[in-house]
Amino acid sequence: MIKKILLVLSIAALVLTGCNYSEGGKPKANVSAGDKRNWNYGTNNGPTHWEEFSSTCGKGIHQSPVNIIPGKTLKMNHSYDLSMHDDITGLAKVIDNGHSIKVTPEHGGHIKLHGEIFDLLQYHFHGKSEHTIDGKRFDMVAHMVHQNPKTKQLAVVAVFFEEGAKNKVLEKIINHVGSTVQLDAQDFVPLQTEHYYHYIGSLTTPPCSENVQWYLLKQPQEASEEQIKHFRKFYVDNERPVQELHDRFIEVN
Ligand SMILES: [Zn+2]
Repeated sequence: MIKKILLVLSIAALVLTGCNYSEGGKPKANVSAGDKRNWNYGTNNGPTHWEEFSSTCGKGIHQSPVNIIPGKTLKMNHSYDLSMHDDITGLAKVIDNGHSIKVTPEHGGHIKLHGEIFDLLQYHFHGKSEHTIDGKRFDMVAHMVHQNPKTKQLAVVAVFFEEGAKNKVLEKIINHVGSTVQLDAQDFVPLQTEHYYHYIGSLTTPPCSENVQWYLLKQPQEASEEQIKHFRKFYVDNERPVQELHDRFIEVN
């Protein structure tokens, strides 16, 4: 019962803070009026100061990202269908929002979790992966932010990138920052979506709201050295340090 109440409260908090769209997006600062400070990844307003923008960033105990130790995961008994987004090619807006390169599709499609629909709202990139596997960071990561239109709960699918062949979709995105481009979000997702790590965490940027479902796909995508360098001209260190796991466990599939 207590758990249920907590869940309802945290969903309510998520809705109230209006942060549903802001992971990797514009901050909702709690700092006093007239204070022009803005969070970032630097020394003065970086991750160790984010609590000054949203107390959850410092006090939350279910925060993201985390380090995943494959030997300490729990095997899942069921599998969610993460093959997603059908084949929807449509117009998407690509912007530099000051924290990341963010892509907002007009119609991004959806994934289904526990029989519930989660619509793709936006995806954005970090110059190195935020979650680590056995302490290892991937060269880049895309966070595909989905939301249940009824409960407003968020589900983020992380697609890791490692250096390899040139990535056609990424090429389109980095060449269209500040404009729109035709994209199919499904082209972004690796072929194997049945293998992933799953846990409940938070947004990785202020307001760091919790009760976010994370799905980290095991199969990485490839991007060329040139593309990774090109992206990092925008952002190289926009990753939050890993957070304590506390009482959580990571499920694996
Ligand atoms: Zn992110």
